[in-house]
Amino acid sequence: MTEKTIFKRIIDGEIPADIVYEDEQCLAFRDISPQAPVHILVIPRKEIPSIDHLSDEDEQLVGHIYLVIKQIAAGEGLENGYRVIVNCGKEGGQTVDHLHFHLLGGRGLSWPPG
Ligand code: AMP
Repeated sequence: MTEKTIFKRIIDGEIPADIVYEDEQCLAFRDISPQAPVHILVIPRKEIPSIDHLSDEDEQLVGHIYLVIKQIAAGEGLENGYRVIVNCGKEGGQTVDHLHFHLLGGRGLSWPPG
């Protein structure tokens, strides 16, 4: 049995998080190390390690997560725009092996990323 990720522990209520939204499919909470005035992580409750591990049955789930992100962004007052990032794998900068969508906003964001 592999060890639970930190995000699975948040889902299971074992460690605290500043949760801003939750439903039967996903959970959203503020990033512990915010890179912008608004930095929220949206994660599926289902344990999917990364984009690379998505399967056809996850199609609805991913679409649902984007609609949740849109709703959270509106609630956070990000009418001037925001960015959604999903890091995948080592070279993609992924550090937690549970699929997560970064919602960043509240300041002008430069491009390209590092
Ligand atoms: P990534 O580098 O794309 O895997 O993103 C992982 C993100 O999780 C980073 O932005 C971390 O700051 C964030 N993070 C790690 N542990 C926690 C935690 N306990 N609560 C909230 N955010 C966390």
